[in-house]
This record gives sequence, C-alpha cells and structure tokens, in this order.
Amino acid sequence: MPIFCSANFESANETSYHDLRYIRLNNTPNHEALHGKLSAITGAEAALVAASGMAAISTTLLTVLKSGDHLLAQDSLYGGTHSLLTEDFKDFGISVTFVDLHDPQSWSKALRPETNGFYVETMTNPTVKVGRLDLVPEFCSQHGLTSMIDNTFASPVNFRPIDHGFDLSLHSATKYLNGHSDIVAGAIAGSREWIEKITHRLNHLGGTLDPHACFLLQRGLKTLSLRVERQNANALCLARYLRDHDSIEKVNYPGLEDHRDYAIANRLFSGFGGVLSFETVGGSEAADTVLKALCLPVNAPSLGGVETLVTKPSCSSHSGVPPEERRRIGVTDSLIRVAVGIEDSEELVADFAQALSKL
Ligand SMILES: *Cc1c(COP(=O)(O)O)cnc(C)c1O
Repeated sequence: MPIFCSANFESANETSYHDLRYIRLNNTPNHEALHGKLSAITGAEAALVAASGMAAISTTLLTVLKSGDHLLAQDSLYGGTHSLLTEDFKDFGISVTFVDLHDPQSWSKALRPETNGFYVETMTNPTVKVGRLDLVPEFCSQHGLTSMIDNTFASPVNFRPIDHGFDLSLHSATKYLNGHSDIVAGAIAGSREWIEKITHRLNHLGGTLDPHACFLLQRGLKTLSLRVERQNANALCLARYLRDHDSIEKVNYPGLEDHRDYAIANRLFSGFGGVLSFETVGGSEAADTVLKALCLPVNAPSLGGVETLVTKPSCSSHSGVPPEERRRIGVTDSLIRVAVGIEDSEELVADFAQALSKL
C-alpha cells in the first residue's frame, strides 16, 4: 500500500460532508485499507484507527456515554484510562464505579438506572490477571449496557472479544498490532453502526491517525501472528524457568498451571501473551541488581515490540499509587515486569540466568 500524503482530494460529487476525502475524516486510501484489514483480523463488521490508544479509548467512551450516564469499570485499569475516568469524566458529568472482575456478584450491586456501559481489560497490568470476561457480554445484554474491552495485551491473535459477544474491542495499536515501537496508534472494532457513530465523533474530536503512521501500522500487521506466536512461546518458556528458580519468590503469568486464572485463560485464549512479571527474593535492591545485570532486555516502559523490555512498575507505571495499595494489588517493590520480544528463547533465558546469578 503506498502512502497517500494528500490532505485533501479532488471532489467526486460526494453528497455528505463525511464522504469528502480528507485526512481528519479518516477516509483516505490508507485509512480504508487499514480499516478493512483490522475488521478482518478482529472478526468485526467494521474497524477504525485513531491517533493513539488513548484517542481510541476516550473517543469510544465519549460516544457510548453522555452527561448523566454511569459506567461500570474494572478496577486496576491501564493508568491513562484510570485517570481519564477518575479525573476528566467528573467534568463531563459521567460517573464511574469500579468493580472486581473476579466477583460477578458485585457487578449487579453496582448497577444504577443510568448505567450505560461496562469497560474491562483482557489482562491487567502488571500482574496479568484475567477476570470473568466470559460473563461480561451476557451481563451487559441483560442490563442494556454496551460492553467494551481493551484487548491490547492479548491482541486478536490470542483473544477475539467480538467472537465472544463484546460490542466493542479496543487496542493501543502502539503495542502488538504495530509491533515495532515506532508509532503511537489506536484501533476500535465493532458493529458497522457503532463504528459509524465513533467515526463521526473522532472526526469532530480530531484524533486522526496520520497516513504515514497508517502505512507503518499496516506493515506491522503483516507479521502480527508470527510475532505474537513467538512472544507467547518465549514468555511461557521464561515464566517456567523463573518459577523454578531459587531466587524468585513469585511469577505472574496466566500460562502457568498454578496461576489462579489459568483455567479461564486456557479456556478463552489461544495463547497467554508476551507479558509476565516476577518478584525476586531480597526486595527492591535485589530487583535493581537483576535489572542492571540484564544484557538483552532494554529497561523501558511499554510492550508489544520485537525487543524484550523490563520495568519495575513500583517506580514507573505505579509510582503514583500509595505503597500500601501497591502491595494489596501485588505490585511489590521487587516486582519486575517483562514484555518479551522475539529473541531466541534460549538466549533470553540464559541472560536472565546470568543476571539472577548476581544475587
Ligand atoms: C499503552 C496502553 C494504552 C494507551 O495506548 P497509547 O497508544 O499509549 O495511547 C491503553 N491500554 C493499554 C492496556 C495499554 O497498554
């Protein structure tokens, strides 16, 4: 697909403003090619790209919800989404109740007459928990709610929410969909009717993906299944190695049979994803020693690229969360998150082995 840099296109007697071709209206040839590809791989009627994951999430929520509405949302959401719901939505007159996705009985108790949507994530960051996703679509249709899921961590290779009855599936395409850590982008998939409404709102809010980024994302998608299959295999291999290591206190990965969410992850997913986290013995300093000694992984936030990245969530994504709350949700000072890449699994394990031998 060539890159169509044109901001505007010669008019061809279009009858509606939204049919004129213009980059902000998300309808250049680059957008259309990408929308078709994304609807195919997500199994949805239609799809839409946006300027970032947060543009996809905010525009979707602001299409589904209006002033006076109430939203049910899973607790422990991605930080940006959590801040949007708790800080910005107050100003828009939209209220939110956070619920435990492992406790379906609590969901009905949180319902109000003005509840209009339920927002969840496939896996939580950084402890990779998987709640009762299987019960969300049915619960939503019983109570007239729109179901939305941030499927970034799984990617459509491992989980396809639309097939399971979710109304809207959202992605930070910055991560696995693009896979090369060189753009920021977002994606939304769902019914033609929903995507049309969200497109109109995105046209007005202006969070459009640039044609050059569309091109890069389409290039990234060509290798999505190869990359994610390799990342699934690498993460499982590394998780098993770490579980059996004497210097490791705990490993969080839903592909380990002793993980509390293994049964549901195994039932719903075709792979367990590329993100895992673990706690070293010896606390925060020991974790720093390991991070310093690692040669292959890069110490950086984000995930989904071809290189393995490591972070200490207590000092990065969760540094704003009070220490007591951090411990409650399993983000201890010694927790290291690994977002595995596509390196050779033996080299990856060997590197963790030499780093852990420094303890
Ligand atoms: C990164 C991320 C986002 C935000 O995406 P951006 O592309 O950075 O705007 C949202 N949800 C999850 C789960 C993420 O990992």
